[in-house]
Amino acid sequence: MTDTKNNNPTEVKDISYNPTAIEQKWQAKWEADKLYRAVIDERKPKHYAVTMLPYPSGDLHIGHWYAMTPSDARARYMRMKGYNVLFPMGFDAFGLPAENAAIKEGVHPMKRTFENIERMRKQMRTMGTMFDWERETVSASPEYYKWTEWFFILLYKMGLAYRKMSAVDWCPKDNTTLAREQVIGEERVCERCGTPVIKKNLEQWFFKTTKYADELLNFDGIDWPERVKTLQTNWIGRSEGASVVFHTESGGDPIEIFTTRPDTLWGATFMVFSPEHPLVDSITTPEQKAAVDEYKLQAARQSDIEREAVDKEKTGVFTGAYAINPVNNERIPIWIADYVLMSYGTGAIMAVPAHDERDFAFARKYGLKVIPVIQPDDVELNGDTMEAAHEHEGVMINSGPFNGTRATGDKGMKNPAIKAVIEWLEQKGIGKRAVNYRYRDWLISRQRYWGAPIPMVYCEKHGWNPVPEDQLPVLLPEDVEWKPTGESPLKLHPTWKNTTCPIGGEPATRETDTMDTFMCSSWYHLRYLSPHYAKGPFDDTEYNYWMPVDTYTGGIEHATMHLLYTRFFHKALRDAGIVEGNEPMMQLRNQGMVLGEDNEKMSKSRGNVIAPDVLVNRYGADTVRAYIMFFARWEMGAPWDSQGIEGAARWIRRTWALYTGESRGEPSRGTSDQKRSYDGKNLRRKVHQTLRKVTSEFENFEFNTIISSLMELMNEMYKAREAGAVGSPAWVEAQDIYLRMLAPVAPHIAEELWTNYLDKPYSVHQQQWPQVDEEAAREDSIELPVQINGKVRDHIHVPVEASEAEIKSAALASETVKKYLEGKEPKKVIVAQKKLVSIVV
Ligand SMILES: [Zn+2]
Ligand SMILES: [Zn+2]
Repeated sequence: MTDTKNNNPTEVKDISYNPTAIEQKWQAKWEADKLYRAVIDERKPKHYAVTMLPYPSGDLHIGHWYAMTPSDARARYMRMKGYNVLFPMGFDAFGLPAENAAIKEGVHPMKRTFENIERMRKQMRTMGTMFDWERETVSASPEYYKWTEWFFILLYKMGLAYRKMSAVDWCPKDNTTLAREQVIGEERVCERCGTPVIKKNLEQWFFKTTKYADELLNFDGIDWPERVKTLQTNWIGRSEGASVVFHTESGGDPIEIFTTRPDTLWGATFMVFSPEHPLVDSITTPEQKAAVDEYKLQAARQSDIEREAVDKEKTGVFTGAYAINPVNNERIPIWIADYVLMSYGTGAIMAVPAHDERDFAFARKYGLKVIPVIQPDDVELNGDTMEAAHEHEGVMINSGPFNGTRATGDKGMKNPAIKAVIEWLEQKGIGKRAVNYRYRDWLISRQRYWGAPIPMVYCEKHGWNPVPEDQLPVLLPEDVEWKPTGESPLKLHPTWKNTTCPIGGEPATRETDTMDTFMCSSWYHLRYLSPHYAKGPFDDTEYNYWMPVDTYTGGIEHATMHLLYTRFFHKALRDAGIVEGNEPMMQLRNQGMVLGEDNEKMSKSRGNVIAPDVLVNRYGADTVRAYIMFFARWEMGAPWDSQGIEGAARWIRRTWALYTGESRGEPSRGTSDQKRSYDGKNLRRKVHQTLRKVTSEFENFEFNTIISSLMELMNEMYKAREAGAVGSPAWVEAQDIYLRMLAPVAPHIAEELWTNYLDKPYSVHQQQWPQVDEEAAREDSIELPVQINGKVRDHIHVPVEASEAEIKSAALASETVKKYLEGKEPKKVIVAQKKLVSIVV
């Protein structure tokens, strides 16, 4: 029936499945027709879907497909649901890999990056995604990084960017500073190259992310995975307690400490400073100076992780100085020890050996006093003989006015002992309620070339000042030398850094550090809105229509980096009056990871990398897309399985055969009698049940079951064809709905079959998502297992609307059940949620 309506009746259709030809044809047509161009349309609800943009590493790998093609299917589904969908793509183009390659191979990062982008663009086109390429952004292009620089200046003017000398994590191999987030694992290695990180003191630019610490802990109004929220919450690491001021016995500088356990203050028998604490030199007595200096040197040689390791032997040196415990005026010695880090709290602690494991080990080693102040209910603690710290609840003792107060296991002000002591400290003016965060300000300086320049200028007279806006962007020079010196090539460039002071016009120097690439990716979703806009970072008209991002998809490895930075960035821009709302991305979903077939992370060195291009050439993009959605639960990921893709390929080919078979004149196996009498009820039920299921699976990003649901439906359609369904209204409907459901998953074959075999109006991707006919989907009957004394003996069929009593009598009426009952009266008959009948004899 379709042949006669073909556009060109004399043309003989090639009915063998040739994915390459079909896919290239439709990709070209969609592009020519601007099918996926997203423009503002006030008549439609908008849906802004973003999937994380890639680094231009050179080749699109299977992980990109795994992240992007299901996200594309979801965006396509939303479009069919009636939304005006914007689904853009771009490149996070600055960063270390390109620069490392430049050093190694002598290829300019700019050249290499833009060549890689060109290559990856081509590879991405083979995916058949609905990316709106007219919105493409490349963070390393001057029209983009002009605004990255502009945002830096904005944050600087808001007081959110500042410069300070700081011990930074430094990768000795890449010769650059790393953000804390880029230092990985227990071994504290560089995220990029795996080299153990060391400490180095440098003047650096920071963003005051900690200003938003509390707000970043609030996830109200956004639909983000619990795991990401937990990771961010732990990363920010808020703890409640008190800050307490100690003084040295000579009355010198105040020493502020933070403690989560102010209820143990009376048990503080010594203090410990980090060896880097600024007061160490001034309080150390002449007799102790040599020992202290030597200890400081050895501490500097260790990494933080070595210093903090729980099982590490505690070491330290007495400074010769004493502090006065402000709650009881006891004279307590001040030590330095490497297990106290400057980066946590204030770099000084009160040590309560009776109630803290590390302090206890330290006290025992150096013979320092141990005074219990929290008495547990079961044993009586003795400071001289106890063998471990008691870190839990009990009753306060040796604590002056607080003796007898119960300390519970609760944290912060919920603990009555802590609450009482904090109130008392505040009254006495010794301390106050305080909150400490693990979170640190964002170090954004990189001593590298391939990044957005930090648009700041230094002159002796006026200090640091931003480059005037009309001089932006500060362009990266192209003529630089590649030397892994640890200094940015910008610093070694003979002229680039020389400029004039924006205030007084005298000779001045440019900042030669560049920005962390996470700065570029903090706002790319805004640049997509108007990638070539010249009057600002984005066009307000586009912003007002498209923002916020409705669905954001990408890897969970970004939980404490990009996903936290972009939230910070949005809040800062909100406070600058540039954006609205508290959050940039309303819904977040994370895909898992595709591992190699050996169950290991894919890497060139392991030789377990799966190349999508090879798969596309062999099977076609539609099959690769379908298999990627099918082989794992998307959020979980799984090891790749080369055999498994054959199953997806078979399904796609069978789909092809099912539709094209008709035009081959083999449609109706059934006799005309069968056709006339074909009752489409079962087929319609299956179609609408599948539609209901697939709809909910798209809503919930359950891509693997979408594919299995469609596979099942196709089997039913084959059976229906055998039964003479072809030509019946149910068959026509099934063909239509099946292709609409297939369209987001396998866009090319769906288009080909829709347009050329069903002869429906182009394009299937502009069709509406079908409506479930609930009446058609309704089951007439349900099947229930019947257990007798715990063993399944029979299955019964009852109408869906059957009552409990009806189900019971149906079960007892079963011949099989009667046989097992042997005429006995059952003691109990239970119908469990219409899922099971249980008979107890
Ligand atoms: Zn490194
Ligand atoms: Zn000046």
